[in-house]
Amino acid sequence: MHKDIATPRRTKEILDQYGFSFKKSLGQNFLIDTNILRKIVDAAEISSETGAIEIGPGIGALTEQLARRAKKVVAFEIDQRLLPILADTLSPYGNVRIIHQDVLKADIHQVIADEFTDVADIMVVANLPYYVTTPIIMKLLTDRLPIRGMVVMLQKEVADRLAAKPGTKDYGSLSIAVQYYTEAAVVMTVPRTVFIPQPNVDSAVIRLIKRKQPPVAVNDEAFFFQVVRASFAQRRKTILNNLVNNLPNGRAMKEQIEISLANASIDPRRRGETLTMEEFAALSNVLRNLLN
Ligand code: SAM
Repeated sequence: MHKDIATPRRTKEILDQYGFSFKKSLGQNFLIDTNILRKIVDAAEISSETGAIEIGPGIGALTEQLARRAKKVVAFEIDQRLLPILADTLSPYGNVRIIHQDVLKADIHQVIADEFTDVADIMVVANLPYYVTTPIIMKLLTDRLPIRGMVVMLQKEVADRLAAKPGTKDYGSLSIAVQYYTEAAVVMTVPRTVFIPQPNVDSAVIRLIKRKQPPVAVNDEAFFFQVVRASFAQRRKTILNNLVNNLPNGRAMKEQIEISLANASIDPRRRGETLTMEEFAALSNVLRNLLN
């Protein structure tokens, strides 16, 4: 087996050899702890039949661990300066394909069709660039990719929001969006000391396993998410005020909103953060029907 890329010593050697300077604007914080990398791959339950998609391979620390266990790894890297480095560090692995592209602009369906013709399942595994964690996760979910799920490292604070339950301070529209599509669980928290350079915040690894079906029946998804977002627009306001003030045409719909809340047995004085996903679904279904 080859020497791990992610040991502090080898990482420094590689960075020095190529005179690489970190770009903060690209969220470049590289992992230098092989134990944590292995735990990330363990959490993703990668087998020799799995296709792995990585976002932001950096100098290949996680890519290498994935390549040792997966059938194939496809990694999107935006920073051109890393391409020659990756070609070198990952040269022992014949099952890795690096795509030089902003993942937010990528046609991932096409990449999957081209690259993963013969795999049992597909997992996204990444130490995400922190400046774009939420857009990346939402793109991966709303693109409805044929993936089993994802195991990603991100800011601890964001991980807590994604996995939050009703009635907690972290619970919000992002929790509902993510939990509508996936079962979410925080796998571990990670101290800032295992990165170079060290980020300003602690991190966590979250596992999101795609649901076969949404946990609630919703008759208009786009409207459901509109209702959820409006309900959290001002956290200190009641659900009634938030819906009236923040739904498009909310003021004109005040009466229908009041009827829908009553119909769904939701006290209009409650705050959005206390509503379960089932309650949001009931509320948006009734309101949608009243507006037709
Ligand atoms: N995987 C490496 C590791 O764990 O050491 C590096 C992780 S670093 C937190 C994030 C990586 O994502 C960097 O290599 C950065 O250049 C890359 N990146 C940033 N924005 C990106 C984007 N929009 N699309 C693809 N890669 C991106």
